[in-house]
Amino acid sequence: MAKDNRKCSFCGRDEKSVDILISGASAHICERCIEQAQLIVKEEKIARGKSKTPSFKLLKPVEIYDHLEKYVIGQEDAKKVLSVAVYNHYKRIAHISQKASSHDDLELEKSNIVLVGETGTGKTLLARTIARMLQVPFCIADATVLTEAGYVGEDVESILARLLQVADYEVTAAERGIIFIDEVDKIARKSDNPSLTRDVSGEGVQQALLKILEGAVVNVPPQGGRKHPEQKMVQVNTQNILFICGGAFDGIEKRISSRMQTNIIGYGVNKEHDVVDRDNMLQYIAPQDLRSYGLIPELVGRLPVLTHLNPLDKDTLRQILTEPQNSLIKQYTKLFELDDVELSIDNKVLDYIVEKAIEFKLGARGLRSICEVIMRDAMFDITSHSKHKKLHIDIEYAKKQLSKTNISHLKVA
Ligand code: ADP
Repeated sequence: MAKDNRKCSFCGRDEKSVDILISGASAHICERCIEQAQLIVKEEKIARGKSKTPSFKLLKPVEIYDHLEKYVIGQEDAKKVLSVAVYNHYKRIAHISQKASSHDDLELEKSNIVLVGETGTGKTLLARTIARMLQVPFCIADATVLTEAGYVGEDVESILARLLQVADYEVTAAERGIIFIDEVDKIARKSDNPSLTRDVSGEGVQQALLKILEGAVVNVPPQGGRKHPEQKMVQVNTQNILFICGGAFDGIEKRISSRMQTNIIGYGVNKEHDVVDRDNMLQYIAPQDLRSYGLIPELVGRLPVLTHLNPLDKDTLRQILTEPQNSLIKQYTKLFELDDVELSIDNKVLDYIVEKAIEFKLGARGLRSICEVIMRDAMFDITSHSKHKKLHIDIEYAKKQLSKTNISHLKVA
């Protein structure tokens, strides 16, 4: 076939009227037909996905806990509460499928979860580790970008679109997935006066979230967003999706202590329970504190499992550097090993990294930025090191590398 006669073998358009024409062994296809075919493939996958029964591992709470131990340092309370909640959630799903074939009509309610703790204490890590362990679709949504339907920003449905994409458009798999909604504290009601003015990014979003949290059949645009008005909606039932919400709830400690103060005055003091750890008030968090912070009561009611994460102290940060299965130091060691370089780091350097992370209030995320600065030059010269096959980082080297950077700029959001 002469080059100037080339036509799309599917729609018949000639080369001049299309942007891209891809040639195969004996046929051509234009970009429009490729896009069309892609949509058909997606729709077909959705249709097939509906009939598949996804599998997931139902692990016992102790097994879930043990798995979390490998990746998350400390946070014992959160790990325990999560292990039980996740186990109950998936047991409930199994019960629902059994119920269909028996006459048992006892309804087990869903146990969506709220994790309250400073940023960088492991909330996302916990949720992600659980999803990976159970091998269910998992996605993270940021509550701050959500707005009520019809306003600039993302609709709440877009979260489900993301989960659907992660599940490779298998609807039944997505319907048993886990969604982590980060920064849920940022959609708290701005004032105590409900709905005096429209609050499209706060209370309005809470109302919209409520619908998907309590379990509903939602029409989801599979491509997400509003860019593709022609796309066919997919119905997703959120009844068995586990929602884990996370937030720092800055300043909630004051509300907790004032509630505890009132309780103490109101009911008399029991000396045994009177010892309050003022340095970590989050451990006493209760649902009414979330309400007084500005979450609507209906939403708090739909998030029945509430737990807290402790701030990370020096010892915990030090452990985070080296102990988890995929700790930072293990990752750097691997990176160098891939270039046949044996990396060793002085313990003093590790202590120094932790000290700096604390001094500059960089938290666990800061550990990585500090390590990056210390390793940067060594990684740049990595191929020249391969002659020596060994790289030892001592405290002098670490200090010199860090002095080249203004460390306070390493602050991560
Ligand atoms: P959050 O969601 O609470 O803001 P993340 O879970 O995203 O924080 O934590 C940020 C990073 O810090 C994680 O990727 C992980 O490397 C590290 N990290 C934080 N807390 C822990 C912890 N308790 N155990 C192990 N690593 C942690």
